[in-house]
Amino acid sequence: MNIFRTTEEIQLHIRQAREKGKTIGFAPTMGALHEGHLSLIESSKAGTDLTVVSIFVNPAQFNDPADYKKYPITTDKDIAMLEKSGTDVLFLPSALEIYPHGTAGLEQYDLGYLETLLEGVYRPGHFQGVCQVMARLLGIVRTNHLYMGQKDYQQCMVVKRLLELIHIDQKVQLHICPTVREADGLAMSSRNLRLGPAARQKAVVISKVLRYVKENLQPGDVTALKAKAKKLLVDEQFEVDYFEVADAGNLSPVNNWDGETKLVAITAAFIDGVRLIDNMIVN
Ligand code: AMP
Repeated sequence: MNIFRTTEEIQLHIRQAREKGKTIGFAPTMGALHEGHLSLIESSKAGTDLTVVSIFVNPAQFNDPADYKKYPITTDKDIAMLEKSGTDVLFLPSALEIYPHGTAGLEQYDLGYLETLLEGVYRPGHFQGVCQVMARLLGIVRTNHLYMGQKDYQQCMVVKRLLELIHIDQKVQLHICPTVREADGLAMSSRNLRLGPAARQKAVVISKVLRYVKENLQPGDVTALKAKAKKLLVDEQFEVDYFEVADAGNLSPVNNWDGETKLVAITAAFIDGVRLIDNMIVN
């Protein structure tokens, strides 16, 4: 595996690969890698000639500076996992490399209503930060295929929108990969590393409640089901930012289900000070 820390080095390597006719797959991450990340790499390896992974904890997307400071860093272990996974290139830039002029004054993107609901409400500025880093990374890694996880459902929609907004000279196809879960159902996440043993045990309730919604969904009024789901979390001492049942295509909240529209149940909740997000297609 080639490890590059500068834009110049990685661009040269990718240009040479493209000149040989190779297709490039790219999975951007913030490190503290787990099997969820590895599933993106597997998909990229199956669908492209050269798989590039980036590890960059993006300061611009943390609305809470304390959350940024506490973000787990496990670079040596990550490198070993990536070597084993058959990743071809790791891009490991510094903040200065990504934001040579700092993060103030970066471009703002018109994300429309997507920024006004769910994560957009509870993490103001977060998706601007996601777009700022993605625009930069896509400009550096001239990928054809971008691999992201359904675990971050709204982020996938935001990036889809970003791809319409920015002008890059090659077509980028976004592949959304299914959420990888622990054996008990907890969605894998780098943040799970911050859960103490009791909180870790309790965290499984999130996926159980999502499944509860899936099993109990009926056409008609779904407000009682949503309220019940939220209560199940609150009863287990979760501090719930939101629990929503939404149109899977555009994320607008659904209160009355026609029995046909594809729905996603989606939530963000704190347990023991750690904010976890998860979602599930429920029909
Ligand atoms: P992160 O390092 O958390 O920024 O995640 C990097 C990429 O991995 C994003 O596209 C995530 O959606 C994806 N990802 C994170 N957790 C999972 C998971 N449990 N299953 C599948 N993909 C995931």
